[in-house]
Amino acid sequence: MEQIVAIRSPSRAIPKEGPQNLRDLDREALAAWLAATWTAAGAEPPPRHRADQLFGWLHQRRAADFASMSDLPAVDRARLGTTASLARLTVDAVLTSRDGTRKLRLRTADGAALESVLIPNEERGYTQCVSSQIGCALTCRFCATASLGFLRNLATWEIVDQVYQAQDLLQREADETGAPYPGRITNVVFMGMGEPLHNYNQVKRAVELLTHPHGAALAGRRITISSSGLVPAIERFARDELATEVGLAISLNATTDAVRDQVMPINTRWNIAALLAAVRKVPQQRRRFVTFEYVLLADVNDSDDDTRRLAALVGDMRCQINVIPFNPHEHAPFRRPSSARVQRFMALCRGLGLQVYLRTPRGDDIGAACGQLALTAREA
Ligand code: SAH
Repeated sequence: MEQIVAIRSPSRAIPKEGPQNLRDLDREALAAWLAATWTAAGAEPPPRHRADQLFGWLHQRRAADFASMSDLPAVDRARLGTTASLARLTVDAVLTSRDGTRKLRLRTADGAALESVLIPNEERGYTQCVSSQIGCALTCRFCATASLGFLRNLATWEIVDQVYQAQDLLQREADETGAPYPGRITNVVFMGMGEPLHNYNQVKRAVELLTHPHGAALAGRRITISSSGLVPAIERFARDELATEVGLAISLNATTDAVRDQVMPINTRWNIAALLAAVRKVPQQRRRFVTFEYVLLADVNDSDDDTRRLAALVGDMRCQINVIPFNPHEHAPFRRPSSARVQRFMALCRGLGLQVYLRTPRGDDIGAACGQLALTAREA
């Protein structure tokens, strides 16, 4: 993965200043941190269940301060107050689309801005599209985030806090309207800003936290990590137990290397054959299909021949294909194909036995649709 960084810009480290942010630690690391911190202060290490209690306050109840952790001894709360941090992202704005999609504009402690999108789904809950990096090191020509360049990876706590901020928002709404239950986030997709497999460790830990039964308790099978095709990272994913927990989506977006080289320059390093060979190494579970995303760009990758080549490439795999008509923005020269063209592309794919789904744009009026997340200093 270092190779990718070299393609674009040097890696900028996650800021590590001040006290330990407790929401950055998984359950085991939290217990170890407690023991080490208590010992360093000359105190007896706390009992084992203290870490469980604390974990629940951090990730389930989303406690704002240590004082509210009512079942922790006062002396422990006091020590936590001087040694640890509960810092959160700051919500700059919540934009609401006419279709009900919402975009949270969030800010990190070092002043960087990121976006996270909350999309109402058919299960009367929400699918949240989270960001994994600020900007992106890849240079996909159709994606607005690419225009930012790569600023830095998000820390684990900055990834999970996007979900917690959205949960807080839904809770506030329920409180205001008197609804008995807040809206529920049922699905999380790593399809916001950034390349999640480029920030592998943080993303993996975020998944562990989000799926922990004493945390947000999301179902792993309702979490999807989307990658542009970082082959070594996909191979790592294939060997990792993470692959048995969450779904993988691959942004294929072309059926020839010539076109993919143009629209996704990562293809010049790992071409379609190398990418598909890596994807084939991911263990196939029942109900866990690989998803291929295919952004339809008018007159670039939307021909009848493309449908035939697509079937030849992935037709033998247990997979589904999400067709995403291009969402226009100022940073890309492409056009969205006509709806007749989109329908023909879909129909031809179906005729060839492919499982294709149309991803209609959600939240495009607030710049929240796929590929439109590019909050810049200008906007921020
Ligand atoms: N870096 C990851 C995840 C972020 S992009 C990846 O590449 O998969 C999420 C999806 O949005 C990708 O499938 C990408 O191809 C798609 N996308 C990017 N720009 C788009 C645009 N302008 N219109 C429609 N989809 C776009």
